[in-house]
Amino acid sequence: DGDAEVEALQHADVAALLPVPAAESDKYRRGVVGVAAGSARYPGAAVLAVAGALRGGAGAVRYVGPAGDAVIARFPETLVSDQGPRRAGRVQAWVVGPGAGDDAGTVAEVLRADVPVLVDADGLRLAEAGVVRGRGAPTLLTPHAGEAAALLGVSREQVEGGRLAAVRELAKRYGATVLLKGSTTLVADPEGAAAVRVNPTGTGWLATAGSGDVLSGLAGSLLAAGLSARDAGSVGAYLHGLAGRFAADGAPVGALDVAGAIPGAWRGVARG
Ligand code: AMP
Ligand code: MG
Repeated sequence: DGDAEVEALQHADVAALLPVPAAESDKYRRGVVGVAAGSARYPGAAVLAVAGALRGGAGAVRYVGPAGDAVIARFPETLVSDQGPRRAGRVQAWVVGPGAGDDAGTVAEVLRADVPVLVDADGLRLAEAGVVRGRGAPTLLTPHAGEAAALLGVSREQVEGGRLAAVRELAKRYGATVLLKGSTTLVADPEGAAAVRVNPTGTGWLATAGSGDVLSGLAGSLLAAGLSARDAGSVGAYLHGLAGRFAADGAPVGALDVAGAIPGAWRGVARG
C-alpha cells in the first residue's frame, strides 16, 4: 500500500509532454491564455503571473484587470483588456486569483467560462466549491499549505502533517485537480483514480514573494497549450522548480528572475 498511490515525475515524462508548435502553427493554434490577476494594491502579482504565462507555451497572453499599465510596461507583448473576462476575447484557458484581493465578481465570471481555469491565491478564497464542482471544463487549484488549510477549515500544521490526505480531500471536495505547493509539490486528480504526482525539483530559494504567481501563469499557459490539468500542474511545477534552481544557482533571487529562467529549464528538459 502507499507506493502505487504516488508517483515521482520523471524527466522523460515531462519532456514528452512539453508542447511544441507545429511547423504551420500560428499564435491562436498554440493557445491563448487569459490572466485575470492583480489589483490596485497588488499590481505586481499580475506582472509575475504574466511573466510565467509568457514562458509556458501559449501563443499569446491576454491580461484582464486593473494592472494593465504595469503589465504593458514590463511585457509589451501582452494583449491588455479592461473589459472584464467575458468580453476579453477568446482564450483556451484562464488563470485567476494572484493578487486579486476581494474581486469575487471576476473570479465568478472566469469560473463560468467553458475552458480550463487555474485558480490561485486570493481566487481560492473566492471560488465556491459548488461552483467549481459544477463546471463543465477542468479546474486546477494551486494552494500553498496555508491556503489549503483555510479551504479545509483546519490548521496549517494539520495540512503539513498530512499533505497527501489534504490534497486528496481538496480534490474530492472541489471535484478539481489540486496542486499543493511546498518543498515538494503534490498534484491530485478529482476522481482519486490516478496516482498523486510528486514534484521534487524545487529549491528553498523558491520560498520568495511572488514565486507562486509565476507558477500559476506558467501552468495556466500549459493548460492553454492543450495539456490536461494534471499534466499542466505537474509539468509546470517541474519546470518552475528547475527554473528556481537555475536562477538561484546558490544565491537569493526574486520571482521575476525565476520566470526568466523558465526557458533554460525548458531547454534542459527538452534536450534530455
Ligand atoms: P507561493 O507560496 O504561492 O508564493 O508559492 C511558492 C512557490 O515556491 C511554490 O511553487 C512552492 O512549491 C515553492 N517553494 C516554496 N518553498 C519551497 C521550498 N522550501 N522548496 C521547494 N519549493 C518551494
Ligand atoms: Mg501564492
